[in-house]
Amino acid sequence: MTLDAVRPYTDELLTSALVRVCRHYLLSMDTLGRHFLGRPKWHPRFIGIPAIAPMAEILGVSASELLWKHTVFPYATAYVDEATYGRAIKSALSDVEPASNGTLAQNAILSIEYWRFCHRCVTEDMARHGESYWRRSHNLPGVWVCSTHHVYLNTTDLSVALASRAPLTLPHEADGKPIRVRRPLPVLTQISQRSALLINRTQGAPPRWSADLYRTIAQESGWLAADAELNAEALSKLISMKCGRAYISNLGLAERVSSHGGWSALMMRPGTKVPFVPLKHVVLTSVLRTPKTDREPGLVHRSKGPSGSDVRQLDRFYGSQAERLLRRVLANGETGLTTDGFLRRIGCAGAYHHRGEALPLLRQVVLRFRASPASVRPLAPGAKLFRNECWPKG
Ligand SMILES: [Zn+2]
Repeated sequence: MTLDAVRPYTDELLTSALVRVCRHYLLSMDTLGRHFLGRPKWHPRFIGIPAIAPMAEILGVSASELLWKHTVFPYATAYVDEATYGRAIKSALSDVEPASNGTLAQNAILSIEYWRFCHRCVTEDMARHGESYWRRSHNLPGVWVCSTHHVYLNTTDLSVALASRAPLTLPHEADGKPIRVRRPLPVLTQISQRSALLINRTQGAPPRWSADLYRTIAQESGWLAADAELNAEALSKLISMKCGRAYISNLGLAERVSSHGGWSALMMRPGTKVPFVPLKHVVLTSVLRTPKTDREPGLVHRSKGPSGSDVRQLDRFYGSQAERLLRRVLANGETGLTTDGFLRRIGCAGAYHHRGEALPLLRQVVLRFRASPASVRPLAPGAKLFRNECWPKG
C-alpha cells in the first residue's frame, strides 16, 4: 500500500503534513513510523530536522523541497558558517537519522514549548481547504505575532517535545489562548516578518554576516554616527523598550545592563567571532531598523574624557584607555579589527585623526595594535613607520 493522497500546503510543517496523512489513512503516528517509514522506535518532534528521504516519498515531493519548504532547516542554518552548513545539508538529505542536526534544530526550537497557530489563518484555511494546518512561520523562536495578519498567535496545550504521542489534532480543533490580548508592539510584527523571510530564504549556504552590517543598519536608521562608539547600556535598554520586558524575559534575552553590555553589544563589536542564534540576529535587526525619532537618545557613547583641553592630559587619558583595550583584544584573540574600529571602542577615533601628531602615547599604542594579530592588516615589524616610531633613532 502506498500513501500518496496528502500533499503539504504552503509553509506547512512536516509534522503537520504527517498528522494529515495519519488522519486520512486512519493510522497512528507509531504505525506510520513502524510500517511506512521503517522506524520501529520513531519519536518525531513537532519541530525538528529528521531524515527526509522516506517522508518525501510519502508526501510526493522531492527531499530537497521537503527540507526547504516544510522544515525549519532554512531558519536554523541562516547564520551558520559554510562548513557547518555543508555538514548539515549532507546529513539532512541522507537516509539515516541525522543525529548531528539535533543541535542545529535547537536554533529553531529555542523557547518554544507548545504548538501555535493564528486564528485568522485558520479561518482562511478552512474556507480554502476545508481543513487547517500547522505553519512553520508561526512556530519559530520569538514569533508571537502572525506575519500576515499582525495579530497575536494562539498557543495550545500540545507539547512540541512529544509529537508522536500528541493527538492527531489540527489547529481548528485545538484549544488555543492568545499569547497576549492587546495590540502587538510594531517591532514584534517586524520580528515575525523577518523570521518568515529566513524560513523562506534562498536555498544554499547563507551569506556571511559581520558586526559591520549592524553598525551600518544603526547608522542608516539614525541610531549611531559613523565614527561613534556604541553605548552598550543604551542598546540593551532600547531592545527591552522596543520589544517589551515580558518578551525579553520570556525568551531569555535579558542582559545584565552594564557599560560592557551583553549579547547585543557583542554582536556589534567589530571582528566578533561568537556564533549567535537566529533569534538574536532577528531581534537586533528589527530593533535597529526602527527609525530613530528626535525624542529618542540614540546609541552613541559619549566618553566623559579627560577634564580640560590640555593635550598632554588627553594623550595620557586615551593612551592608557587604548593600552587596556589592546590587552583585552589580544587576550580575547580578536582579529580583523581596523584602526578606526579599534579607536571607536574607546571613543577617540576623531581625536586621533585630527590631532594624532600631538598624541604620542596614543600613537605608540596604535602602532603596537597595528603590528599585532588583532589588526586587519598587521604591520610588519620591519616596516619603516613601525621602526621609526617604536624605536626612534638616537
Ligand atoms: Zn494569520
